[in-house]
Amino acid sequence: MTQLRDDCFANDSPLLTAAAALDLLRQRVQPVVRTETIALSGAAGRVLASEIRSERDVPAHDNSAVDGYAFRADDLASGEPNRLRVAGRSAAGHPLDHAPRPGTAVRIFTGALMPEGCDTVAMQEDCTVKGDILVVPDGLRQGANRRRRGEDVRTGQIVLNPGRRLRPQDLGMIASVGRAEVTVYQRLRVAVCSTGDEVSEPGDAIAPGRIYDANRFMLIALLEGLGATVTDLGIVGDDRATIRRTLDHARAEHDLVVSSGGVSVGEEDHVRQAIEDFGSLHFWRLAIKPGRPLTLGQIGQVPFVGVPGNPVAAMVTFLRFVRPVVLRLAGVEDVEPQVFTVIADFNHQKKSGRREFLRGRLTTGRDGRRHVTPFPHQGAGILRSLVEADGLVELPEEMTKLTPGSDVAFLPFSEVLA
Ligand code: AMP
Ligand code: MG
Repeated sequence: MTQLRDDCFANDSPLLTAAAALDLLRQRVQPVVRTETIALSGAAGRVLASEIRSERDVPAHDNSAVDGYAFRADDLASGEPNRLRVAGRSAAGHPLDHAPRPGTAVRIFTGALMPEGCDTVAMQEDCTVKGDILVVPDGLRQGANRRRRGEDVRTGQIVLNPGRRLRPQDLGMIASVGRAEVTVYQRLRVAVCSTGDEVSEPGDAIAPGRIYDANRFMLIALLEGLGATVTDLGIVGDDRATIRRTLDHARAEHDLVVSSGGVSVGEEDHVRQAIEDFGSLHFWRLAIKPGRPLTLGQIGQVPFVGVPGNPVAAMVTFLRFVRPVVLRLAGVEDVEPQVFTVIADFNHQKKSGRREFLRGRLTTGRDGRRHVTPFPHQGAGILRSLVEADGLVELPEEMTKLTPGSDVAFLPFSEVLA
């Protein structure tokens, strides 16, 4: 099994730009899980660990793309309506067992093997047949309606590279080259906890001053969406000994530990102390809003990520910075989501030097293009801003003023929630 290098999250920069942080994470994080070979039928969403190279041509033979009549184009005299005698039949799974005689046509169906010597198929809708005489339409070029052997995949071709999460179409491809099993990375095992003496379990009656735990449910769902197997460690109070015990237990059987809260600079940071008891911890001060403090460390060899306690900051930092870490650890190669350009329907002023993430909703403008409007209340504790949004507007560091009609970068949740 691969191990992260010691202290792979060490970072002393006072303030990191989002791009610099993502670069560092890309360089330092590598897959930590072993591989396993599993049945193709259970492989959706899993991360491919070795390339798929085809040992065959797909399709394996020339075949017909339509229902109709197959013949040799050279047998047709040009100009006149062309007549051929129909002799023989080739259906999918039931090929003709002999070469047709010159000057004859073969009744053929989609996916059926092209009879020996035939190179062209006339669609049945374009043909007239009287008795056994076929009238072939004019203007059919040689090779029409014929699928060539190997036109999809050639023998020896690599159809899928390692490091991709298998999509339904990928499974289709693996099956079509005849493979029943694939080698994938084992699922990343992640332990999740919330911290805070004020944080309580939903369903419990709570005293004034306490809040319900929102983050753990978001984080577990986010991680499961990325294919991880999650252990729920529950809520841990602000107490160094308890946190220490929880983390020590978690590191034994997990590839990653994720917590929320308890790491704001300046607060009583029990998480920091607990982790430093048996590992290393680094506060990455990101030049972003919301969610500036992101905590990364190692509990022994096991990586640790602490997201901010404020739910919006927790989710934004997870989607933009933790998600790539999770995916890299799990074996994924390309972890950057697609960001799209849409039109801003609003004014906005911001500080330069930091990247800002607004929660926004998409609409289609009268111009037929996609427009975005931010949720009116953008506070880091306003969970509704996430609930009511379709994704994140990403405003670049250098921008200070945004005017309606400008292009802005938009990261749809649909891009990052799986
Ligand atoms: P902290 O990072 O622990 O200082 O928390 C920052 C803010 O987020 C405080 O208002 C906390 O009460 C709140 N918070 C912390 N953890 C959670 C949680 N699991 N769910 C909802 N809010 C939380
Ligand atoms: Mg706290």
